[in-house]
Amino acid sequence: MSAIQENTLTKTENQSAALIEIQNLKKYFPIKQGILKKTVGNVKAVDDVTFSIRKGETFGLVGESGSGKSTLGRTMLRLHEPTAGKVIFEGQDLLPLSAPELRKIRREMQIIFQDPFGSLNPRFTIGEVIGEMFKVHNIASGKEKDEKVCQLLELVGIDPNRRHFYPHEFSGGQRQRVGIARAIALNPKFILADEAVSALDVSVQAQVINLLKELQEKLDLTYLFIAHGLNVVRYISNRVGVMYLGSLVEVAETDELFNHPAHPYTQALISTNPIPNPYKRNTQIILKGEIPSPANPPSGCKFHTRCPLATERCKVEIPPLKEVAPGHQAACHFPL
Ligand code: SF4
Repeated sequence: MSAIQENTLTKTENQSAALIEIQNLKKYFPIKQGILKKTVGNVKAVDDVTFSIRKGETFGLVGESGSGKSTLGRTMLRLHEPTAGKVIFEGQDLLPLSAPELRKIRREMQIIFQDPFGSLNPRFTIGEVIGEMFKVHNIASGKEKDEKVCQLLELVGIDPNRRHFYPHEFSGGQRQRVGIARAIALNPKFILADEAVSALDVSVQAQVINLLKELQEKLDLTYLFIAHGLNVVRYISNRVGVMYLGSLVEVAETDELFNHPAHPYTQALISTNPIPNPYKRNTQIILKGEIPSPANPPSGCKFHTRCPLATERCKVEIPPLKEVAPGHQAACHFPL
């Protein structure tokens, strides 16, 4: 076997191996009432979600506001304590880990926040913000730390001479680049990009997404990319998951999902997405009503109150996420 063949084989094998496996993950927020703060119910923000993210891929997560995307991502990193389930990172379940054990693993799993301004301390220069990562983890100090900060800034396209500037002296896109530099500082394997480009102008979005793609190649990163803009998710993701009211209702390779959505919710979501082509138009499927409350989700299929194809069966029987085509899963009794 030639070296190139071996390389290709290794890359394919690596990409199909799971870096993270999520099993039956739940995150419920208790609803408290009265003087005694008695729990009277739960907001089921993440409700029994199972999926995996392969090494080296970008897994996109979409869904309306309130569908549980961000809570799912943050629960995976244990920024929210899960109610039940497993998060297995490189074969190790994160949920039983103690705080010091978790801190070690956190180096491998980083987050890029939506609001770069809010996530950067305005009293620190960007050099200090990034350098703090090396200090906290006892990786480098003094001149070595400064050199590492300069290398990172260069990698994300910011002039290292500007490391003494404060966050307010940068544009939104540049601040997000600083956020990215901080996220990659400790050589992580996995990055949760939580609405990382949603607050940026469209032209800046494209630059930041291209930067994320470049860094993925260079640093062998795996992403969970959460966004509500479908076009952005389509552009960057290898596979996409669709969430509705705390549940994953469809997962497929990106082209398969956008060209052949099997779940009526995914189909409706895609139909309202603007196509960047003036000669083409989507036939919009307008869903009736608002997304129901996760504190009181509908019985059976949670989508039945808004689904144009709902039957009596849908009101009582929960549809499991099952394969409808190779590598394509949907949670619907009557997939399209
Ligand atoms: Fe619609 Fe029924 Fe499928 Fe749910 S199970 S998406 S209600 S057809």
